[in-house]
Amino acid sequence: MANVLVTGGAGYIGSHACKALAAAGFTPVTFDNLVTGWRDAVKFGPLVEGDLLDRPQIDAVFAEYQPVAVMHFAALSQVGDSMKQPGLYWRNNVEGSLNLIEATVAANCENFVFSSTCATYGDQDNIVLDENSAQLPINAYGASKRAIEDILRNFEAAHGLKAVIFRYFNVAGADPEGELGEFHQPETHLVPLMLDAIDGKRDALTVFGTDYDTPDGTCIRDYVHVCDLVDAHVLGLQWLLDGKPSRVFNLGTGTGFSVREVVEHSREVTNRAVPIIEGARRIGDCTKLVSGSSRAVAELGWAPKRSTLSEMIADAWRWHQTGHYDT
Ligand code: UDP
Repeated sequence: MANVLVTGGAGYIGSHACKALAAAGFTPVTFDNLVTGWRDAVKFGPLVEGDLLDRPQIDAVFAEYQPVAVMHFAALSQVGDSMKQPGLYWRNNVEGSLNLIEATVAANCENFVFSSTCATYGDQDNIVLDENSAQLPINAYGASKRAIEDILRNFEAAHGLKAVIFRYFNVAGADPEGELGEFHQPETHLVPLMLDAIDGKRDALTVFGTDYDTPDGTCIRDYVHVCDLVDAHVLGLQWLLDGKPSRVFNLGTGTGFSVREVVEHSREVTNRAVPIIEGARRIGDCTKLVSGSSRAVAELGWAPKRSTLSEMIADAWRWHQTGHYDT
């Protein structure tokens, strides 16, 4: 079975990608520093503990496993945190990715699947964001991801490295078989924080801003199920292995939900009250991020199966109640 190097394979999205890769007949080799990932989320292939800031460690994993492709998930990914610690984000995300990209080229591996983000588009009012929209990030996280996209384009021109770049919208949900789920410490994402508030693990969910220019005053996001998202990655990998050209794909559903709408769906799915506090805006947040995702559907043959808000919340709720990783 062909090996695929998965950076961040111990994290939320990377671990689900490893499961999808294994189901598709690949061996996922996780490379992860376990700073935000979990050892026992690595269930479908070997784990190599290492850091992308340590180039010899990356070279060693290429030498040992000879991967046919790289899937690069490892990154710091909190918008708010990126505004407080921009240096950390630029060093970790950009320098780490540059090391990885250089090592990929040095190992003569030609296929790279990269997890980028809708945060590279920034705040562009009232347009559906497609892959040709301008990239005008308003936070350091988005800026760091845009820089990595640029590096990949430069490396293709100079060295022929081919890349499929996925710009994710908001990822939610969990493995419906209960093996994997979302678990961050500290948690910053809307759905798991809300589920914590619902079952009393925290007092309330603070809604970050109720004075945005949206119908109910709260931010609008496009939520996509983690399993649908990683299915697209396997299709993107196959795209590259089939010799198709580098390409950017948005991954979202094209439907936006406000924070208040997510709260309401969660109340319905869990049949429990959601305690909320109306708080201030979080610095770096865009008003509205909604994907134009027709390219992934038309060209990759991507067919999201579980990305209704209710299904995402139901899967996340099941994991929340029954799953855990050892900390
Ligand atoms: N959000 C919120 N309260 C929280 C966490 C998030 O109101 O405790 C909002 C946040 O302002 C954004 C949306 O929920 O509009 C999704 O935020 P998240 O951090 O999950 O993802 P992001 O959009 O930053 O990638």
